[in-house]
Amino acid sequence: MLTIEWSATEGWQAPLIKPFGNMSLHPACSSLHYGVQTFDHSELLECIRRLVEIDQDWVPHSDSAGLYIRPTFISTEPSLGVKKPGHALLYVILCQAGSYFNNEAEALSLWADPKYTRAWEGGTGDCKMGGNYGCSLLAQYEAVDYGCQQVLWLYGEDHQITEAGTMNIFLHWINEIGEEELATPPLDGIILPGVTRQSILELTRKWNLHIPCQDKNTQLTSRIAKELTDIQYGRIHSDWTFLV
Ligand SMILES: *Cc1c(COP(=O)(O)O)cnc(C)c1O
Repeated sequence: MLTIEWSATEGWQAPLIKPFGNMSLHPACSSLHYGVQTFDHSELLECIRRLVEIDQDWVPHSDSAGLYIRPTFISTEPSLGVKKPGHALLYVILCQAGSYFNNEAEALSLWADPKYTRAWEGGTGDCKMGGNYGCSLLAQYEAVDYGCQQVLWLYGEDHQITEAGTMNIFLHWINEIGEEELATPPLDGIILPGVTRQSILELTRKWNLHIPCQDKNTQLTSRIAKELTDIQYGRIHSDWTFLV
């Protein structure tokens, strides 16, 4: 694992790659990290590159699995108070991962109930932050009770569609004037700005929705999935490719 410690008095310490071990976290560890200076992005990318290089034997050689890279940033302040942290830890761990949803079905079922709210204006719904998931679990359990895999989160009095529990959503339809249209809710502060969402927007803008596929029956979703996984598995080269 990669660990980088931060303290208010000393700032960022040197990054360290060490054997994976358990961490004892203080109960107050989920505090907000506002006020902690961010670690340099390109240096973090280089540290992760080095970590993956060291653990390269763990990279699965399979089309249905990948190496999951999980960076996490927590407060390690040894006190109970709700205040700006004086100590924090940025760590990165890796594991082999298969498909997120272990079902064979092509589609996921979503369950929506306006009585629950995932995020709100002025909140932290646009950050990948632990607190957002704690309060969404009750709705997730209910979705599972109703035989669905994910919650479709609604917002506001008019029940606007925002996103699903762990993924952004797209709507693909033929609009009123007969045109093929792909739409996704805007990043207005209550939606997690996912990498997959951004990637799909960039790819489909490049295609201008004239979907480049030999088979007319190939669905847009399969075409997007193929392009993304071809990039992820190195079958095609892209600006997004990062060699380790
Ligand atoms: C992680 C997550 C997403 C998807 O983000 P990606 O970067 O595409 O993996 C979308 N919505 C929520 C609420 C998430 O937690």
